Amino acid sequence: MALMITDECINCDVCEPECPNGAIYQGAEIYEINPNLCTECVGHFGNPQCQDVCPVACIPHDPTRVESHEQLYQKYLKITLVES
Ligand code: SF4
Ligand code: SF4
Repeated sequence: MALMITDECINCDVCEPECPNGAIYQGAEIYEINPNLCTECVGHFGNPQCQDVCPVACIPHDPTRVESHEQLYQKYLKITLVES
């Protein structure tokens, strides 16, 4: 499943450059994640990079966007093909 950023975000800017898919962006009030681009870092890293760096641990899984590892990998392939 994609990850989401909760309103506990303190806008520290640390996560945005860590995302290999460019899924994180500054929203109207806090940082947000584009679920169409978030692969939970599947295809790039073994674990979600944004979760690793967030100082307030406000990036949980989005329970409304459940995806299997295979689905996440297929999303990664699609994003990579679009970029190349
Ligand atoms: S889990 Fe990975 S792909 Fe998803 S927003 Fe975080 S850094 Fe980006
Ligand atoms: S690292 Fe966490 S607190 Fe900082 S901008 Fe990203 S989501 Fe917000």
